Amino acid sequence: MVNIDGTRLLADLHELRSYGASGGGVVRPSYSEQDMAARAWLTSRMAEAGLDSFVDDVGNAVGVSPNTGPTLLVGSHSDTQPTGGWLDGALGVIYGLEVARALLEDQHTRHLSVDAVAWIDEESTYASCVGSKQFCGVLEARDLASRNRAGEQLADAIARNDLGFNRPYKLDSSRHVGYLEAHIEQGPRLEEVGYLIGAVTSIVGIRAVKVTFSGQQNHAGTTPMHLRADAGVALFDYAARLRERFSAVATGSTVWTFGNAVLEPGAESIVPGQAHLTAQFRDPDDELLTAMQNEMEALAREMSAEGPVGVSVIADRDGIKPTMMSPALIDHVAQAAELHAPGKWMQMPSAAGHDPMVISHHLPCGMLFIPSINGISHDFSEDSLEDDIIRGCQVLADAVVAALGSAPG
Ligand SMILES: [Zn+2]
Repeated sequence: MVNIDGTRLLADLHELRSYGASGGGVVRPSYSEQDMAARAWLTSRMAEAGLDSFVDDVGNAVGVSPNTGPTLLVGSHSDTQPTGGWLDGALGVIYGLEVARALLEDQHTRHLSVDAVAWIDEESTYASCVGSKQFCGVLEARDLASRNRAGEQLADAIARNDLGFNRPYKLDSSRHVGYLEAHIEQGPRLEEVGYLIGAVTSIVGIRAVKVTFSGQQNHAGTTPMHLRADAGVALFDYAARLRERFSAVATGSTVWTFGNAVLEPGAESIVPGQAHLTAQFRDPDDELLTAMQNEMEALAREMSAEGPVGVSVIADRDGIKPTMMSPALIDHVAQAAELHAPGKWMQMPSAAGHDPMVISHHLPCGMLFIPSINGISHDFSEDSLEDDIIRGCQVLADAVVAALGSAPG
């Protein structure tokens, strides 16, 4: 066991919150002035903790352990949504700093090697998980060409901040043995059952499918009902029938959303000739996602055969596959959770995306959740209880010590 300093942890979290503070939330999108100022402050805190700290060639704030031997990487992202909460990402970043710092201060653990990291642009201001992609060597030209809402390309944001020639920070398979990230749950599941820690087993996969309905545009007054090929009616019919079919295959962890529906031309006196519906669905089980996509395709074929409106579906490329956490790291988190929250933790999938979606293909990953008050996130009102924040960091610290204790030397 190693003792983290809860007061110092909270003070650092509030200091990070001040960069881009707005109302109760934070506006600190990646590569903004506030984001880069926060990264400069983070590296100064990492240096004070005894880490070799720098902002790397893509903007990650990194604190490299002075120790040799098997190294755990611990952190999260410090950029926010356009209007974000103060804990999303920030929590795990300050946990990484505090865990590395607490380990170096304790004579029993000061030999253990932990790098602290604050990834950049996890939140897709330009492209998703930019910092962790760079770390893993998989940042592509199409990522660098991605633009933010103002139209600036990622490559230009990196150049504007003079980052390109900074010291790189790359996955080193001779050092790094795993990545651990703590995060707020961003959902209501822990709070609902009164649990304090989630040992994350996986990050759900995501599929998005577009459905197009092709009928015949016509006059809404003169066209008799039995002669219509109304794309709008077909859309609503499809959505209702799909809801039934999804309910039959879904599990407790499945979610689906009809996020967008458009009728064309969208005028009250015109029978819609075309309609478009998007369905997105998420689950930790890739086979279940395929079953849901199959249901969508089967229903489209059936309705096209029934007529009079043609229905076609297009899946969004490959979607995002579910990400599995390392069984060993899940176990270390679970054991530490049982120590500090006996009987009040559970294994659970993450319904939101995180950097381990990238890193897990290159390094074993583990994640830990603490409860979000009212399950709210990506909003200024996002918050967690101070006791939960401190407990989560203590659980993470013990999981780190256990993982490094069992790592091959
Ligand atoms: Zn996040």
